[in-house]
Amino acid sequence: MAALIRNLLILMILIIIGVFAGLSWMLENRSPTHDYSEFIKHVYQDEIKLVELTGNRAEVTTNKGFVYRTTVPDPAQIATRAEGKDMRVIFHHDYSSLVVQISIALIIITLVLVIGGTMYRNKTRAEKSRFASDKLISPNSSQAPITFADVAGIPEAKEELEEIVGFLKNPKQYGNVGAIIPKGVLLQGPPGTGKTLLAKAVAGESGVPFYSFSGSDFVEMFVGVGASRVRDLFKEAKKNSPCIVFIDEIDGVGGSRTGTSSAGGQDERGQTLNALLVEMDGFDTSDTIVVLAATNRPDILDPALRRPGRFDRQINILPPDIKGRTKILEIFAKKVQISTDVDLSVIAQATPGFTGAELANLVNEAALLAGRNGKLEIGDQEFDTARDRILMGVERKGLVMTDQDRTALAYHEAGHAIIAKKLPESDPLHKITIIPRGRALGQTQQLPLNDRHAYSYTYLKNRITILMGGRAAEKIVFNQRSTGAQGDILQATDIATNMICKWGMSETLGPRAFAMDDSGFLGGPSERLAVGDKTSRQIDFEISELLDRCYRKQWIFSAATSAC
Ligand code: ADP
Ligand code: ZN
Repeated sequence: MAALIRNLLILMILIIIGVFAGLSWMLENRSPTHDYSEFIKHVYQDEIKLVELTGNRAEVTTNKGFVYRTTVPDPAQIATRAEGKDMRVIFHHDYSSLVVQISIALIIITLVLVIGGTMYRNKTRAEKSRFASDKLISPNSSQAPITFADVAGIPEAKEELEEIVGFLKNPKQYGNVGAIIPKGVLLQGPPGTGKTLLAKAVAGESGVPFYSFSGSDFVEMFVGVGASRVRDLFKEAKKNSPCIVFIDEIDGVGGSRTGTSSAGGQDERGQTLNALLVEMDGFDTSDTIVVLAATNRPDILDPALRRPGRFDRQINILPPDIKGRTKILEIFAKKVQISTDVDLSVIAQATPGFTGAELANLVNEAALLAGRNGKLEIGDQEFDTARDRILMGVERKGLVMTDQDRTALAYHEAGHAIIAKKLPESDPLHKITIIPRGRALGQTQQLPLNDRHAYSYTYLKNRITILMGGRAAEKIVFNQRSTGAQGDILQATDIATNMICKWGMSETLGPRAFAMDDSGFLGGPSERLAVGDKTSRQIDFEISELLDRCYRKQWIFSAATSAC
């Protein structure tokens, strides 16, 4: 209907323009009936009563009342010729050329508007219809669906989502007892822990359509586009329910509206977020749509997203523990050729803090190395090299070191190693190397037998002492201090500061916090809380004292038996 009215309107405008143009064209081109030379002759013979000039066109009335038209090359001259004669000359404004110009301009403008508008409409229409359906992963696609068997190491999250799967598979059964499915589930945790994988597994297990988006899909340059995409998406999802809508990196749209961000994007994001909130409030549980979202920045999410009826269920996903890592490695091991003497639990032990994605990377790097070496199976050596490469960077083959530097480095690392070996309660030694990788020239690696979640006072003090071992060895052997200990000293200072300021491990200062704990996933340096001058001096003293005691213990080697 609207289209019909619009077309009629365009037609009318075109007709009006056409009439205008036609008229002016006629005006312009009314053919002269007499030659200019004839007109001049009449002028000389004083036979003319009146000349009306419009631009170059003249309408001439003779004394006998005869009227004719002619074209005049220079209208101004006619006035001069009329001087001293009985001939009247009237100049009219020449509107016709203006009319022509306006008509032409109108035609061009209308054409541009009509063509441009049609193109834009077609484009956005095509985009709209594609936007939601493009992101659809149909349950009957040829690819084997991802299932919970592909996910390991996050048993709690799996358990929580199994309930959702049950509901999607069998909405009636749940509906009968009056159970209400959560509308939104937020998966939060560091990158690479398997949030996306888990969402896909939910879809695969429940066999329903799965719409997969990223927060950035909604954020466009033009205000309002994101919001309309959100509306389209939910319209489409309702048509295909039961289904799952997955929004990865939801912080892209759902970042706090009060947060600082580029001014322009703020408006668009705010509108998009609002649209999302409205849509989530709008569909009711009979629609059987489950919205899954993932973020690794839960700290910046707008609190409105977590209200009841929106993402009211939140699942924390953390990097897997040692058992989880073994299970994840087992999944990947099925996809490559691994030598039978490789013990995956040992690799799991050697990779504390690795996420699922990092483990996937580890296996792939190891496979690449084996391939490069012409091997048919991946061995322990490939895993070890791959791990070093991921943790420390690529080997710096091009780095030329003098023998003297290398010797100093060897003593430095040996210093770490001896202390680590001798101190009780410290992690077993894994590897000592002076092959430079990434930013490190050498390294002494220790590996805990189990993942540590809490650290004792003794363990921490030992850790500092081991870190000081490199510097101490250089001092004993060369009686020199070198810059090689920079990283060790930084790390030791960090541990000591945390011991005093966060973990209440100072005798004199007692169990009091002097620094904020910023345990965001990204961490970062912690800020000290404001304290009085005296306390501040005391804190500094305690930190230095602790570091110093750990360092000095190296001189008397009895440190090996008693904690510093
Ligand atoms: P996230 O969405 O949390 O950033 P992804 O789900 O994209 O992480 O993980 C990337 C890849 O890492 C996955 O495709 C999978 O191969 C692997 N991965 C991550 N976590 C796990 C896990 N818990 N179990 C199995 N594989 C995992
Ligand atoms: Zn060192």
